[in-house]
Amino acid sequence: MADANPFESLQEQLDDAGEYLDVRADVLDRLKQPERVLELTLSVEMDDGTIETFDAYRSQFNGDRGPYKGGIRYHPGVTRDEVKALSGWMAYKTAVVDIPYGGGKGGIALDPSEYSESELERITRSFAKEIRPFIGVDKDVPAPDVNTGQREMNWIKDTYEKLENTTVPGVITGKALENGGSRGRVEATGRSTMFAAREVFDYLDEEMAEATVAVQGYGNAGSIAARLLEDLGAHVVAVSDSSGAIYNPEGFDTRHVKEFKRETGSVAGYDGATEEFGNDDLLTLDVDLLVPAALENAIDGNLARDVQADVVVEAANGPLTPDADDVLTEKNVHVVPDILANAGGVTVSYFEWVQNRQRFQWTEQRVNEELEAVITNAFDAIIDAYEANDLPNLRTAAYVVAVQRVVDAYEGSGSWP
Ligand code: GLU
Repeated sequence: MADANPFESLQEQLDDAGEYLDVRADVLDRLKQPERVLELTLSVEMDDGTIETFDAYRSQFNGDRGPYKGGIRYHPGVTRDEVKALSGWMAYKTAVVDIPYGGGKGGIALDPSEYSESELERITRSFAKEIRPFIGVDKDVPAPDVNTGQREMNWIKDTYEKLENTTVPGVITGKALENGGSRGRVEATGRSTMFAAREVFDYLDEEMAEATVAVQGYGNAGSIAARLLEDLGAHVVAVSDSSGAIYNPEGFDTRHVKEFKRETGSVAGYDGATEEFGNDDLLTLDVDLLVPAALENAIDGNLARDVQADVVVEAANGPLTPDADDVLTEKNVHVVPDILANAGGVTVSYFEWVQNRQRFQWTEQRVNEELEAVITNAFDAIIDAYEANDLPNLRTAAYVVAVQRVVDAYEGSGSWP
């Protein structure tokens, strides 16, 4: 894994797009920095009565197109710069799929597996209390990210509503269905990854049925993308998690692998595998489609030289460094960028927020159909930009579309004060 600073990667991606945009340099500079970063030290009582402190952040990157929007991550690798980068990717993700939000992100530097459920509840509620003045249904709407889910979103909603003495479920998305969540939200990131893969295969005149696929990361995004790709007839020949990678040239029963991981905690040791190897070996397999679905910086310039996949679809945020992008562009490997491929999560978060505001629930079919329309329309807009401007790759095309939308909103409202 490379140690590129993700915030510098984001700024490089924006500079790349800037070369093809008719945007003033001072305006682009403004769009390379977050508007506000809240940095906190949480002090929380552990089960044994001692106090532990945690570094926590919420970055509000850009609000020109609507409330700041983005997840909250629990991971030991969380830093101020990582959260800033992730918040920027959110701003351009919401713009590329054209939903009325800006971008934000939060995180707490911790390994949740080291804490009991009651400790995690106190840590989460402490974070919710601290960010309460900065979030709100029309201000900043958090959501799940790495190692957080419905449980944490329910705690944050409950803390917020108790302190505000109101009910406002749309203050956070990714909640459990009974607590104001949306049907289809859990699957949404994997589903948009599948739609993005299907669209790019179609664009390249490649067949998805019988295609071979490797998926790095078997959490929410990776496992669901794998299942939906298998349902399209693809052979998911390799999957991995932090414990290692498993391989079977015939393709896995992805549901069964997920069941195995649920029972044992990892994919390693799965008896349907013909081989096991390390994570980096999965990334360089000779497959038709590679889906990085873990963390940032999975593929750097060096590793990219060994990538043999024809197409890469990014289910994770920031899995390729800018160097890796250059190498893959040179090798004519098509990369569908994170800000489109994994945008299903925030898109169905938007649907959840709309349902919360209307106090009305959509069917799962409606959620999935509207998601499909959003992702395919965004894909078409990216291809139009790619072809019309002869852009080097689909990431630059996605940023050209997204940055222009943010600039138009900013310039339309004027600059004040
Ligand atoms: N954490 C997800 C992402 O990176 C979802 C964010 C949201 O639903 O607001 O896109």
